[in-house]
Amino acid sequence: MRRPMVAGNWKMNMTLAGTRELIRGLAAKLSSNAPIDVTVFPPFVYLFAASQAAQDTPIRIGGQNLWPETKGAFTGEVSAEMLREAGCRYVLVGHSERRHTIGGADREGRTVGEDDALLNRKLKAARAAGLTPVLCVGETLAERDAAQTQAVLTSQLEGGLRGQSSAHVAMMLIAYEPVWAIGTGRTATVEQADEAHRHIRAEIARMFDARTAELVRILYGGSVKASNSKELMTPPGVDGVLVGGASLAVDEFLGIISGCFSAKGLG
Ligand code: PEP
Repeated sequence: MRRPMVAGNWKMNMTLAGTRELIRGLAAKLSSNAPIDVTVFPPFVYLFAASQAAQDTPIRIGGQNLWPETKGAFTGEVSAEMLREAGCRYVLVGHSERRHTIGGADREGRTVGEDDALLNRKLKAARAAGLTPVLCVGETLAERDAAQTQAVLTSQLEGGLRGQSSAHVAMMLIAYEPVWAIGTGRTATVEQADEAHRHIRAEIARMFDARTAELVRILYGGSVKASNSKELMTPPGVDGVLVGGASLAVDEFLGIISGCFSAKGLG
C-alpha cells in the first residue's frame, strides 16, 4: 500500500516565530508512528528553524523550489544540496505559481515561467542530492474548458519525466493541482480529481511500467480544507493532498490530517 502524505506549502507566508509555533503545534498532536507522512514546505529563510523545530517529530521539511546547478553565478537561487544541508527531505518542482505567475513577460505580456525542460533538470538535481521531489502538474481553466486537461497532463509528465529512471519516478510524488483550483476556494470535484489521478497513473505505466505506476504517490492540491479533505482523499488513487492556505493554521491542517486518516481507513 502507498503511504499517504499530507503536505503543506506555506508559499511566501509565515514568520520565524510562527514557523516554530506551527511545527510544535502539529507535532504535539501527531503520534511518532503515524502511518502517514506529514511534510511542510516553509520559505527558504525559515528552513533551518523549521528543521530544528521538527527534530524528533514525525514532521518532515521540504523546499518550495531549487535551482538545478550545484553552485555558481545564479543570484537568488538555492541548490538541492543546500536544501539538504538545511534539513530538507523533499522539494516542490514546478508548482503552478512557478510555471505561470513568477518570471518575466513575453512580447505579448504573458508571464513566461518555468518550462518542462527546466523542471526536468530540477528533478535530476533533486535526485542527485538525495531529495524526494514533488512534481506539480495541472491544467488552467482555459485548458479544461477546451477539453485539454489530459493532453496537458501528458505533456507536462512527458516533459518533466523524460530521461528519469523508473526507480526515481517510483520514489517521487506527483501533485495534481488544477491551476483554477489553487488559492481560489474552488475545488475539483472528487470525480475530476479521480479522473486526473487515473490518467496520470496510466501515463506513468505507459511511459515507464506498471510497477512504477503502482508505487508512485499522487497527491491532489487545490483549495483543500478540513471540511473537504476526507472526500477528496476517498478515491484509492488519491494518495494524499498538497495544501496551501489551509496549511497555515494548526487546527485546520490537523483537520486535514484527520480527514486523511478517515479516508484511508487508518483510524
Ligand atoms: C498550493 O499552493 O499548492 C495550493 C494547493 O494552494 P491552496 O490550497 O491554497 O489552493
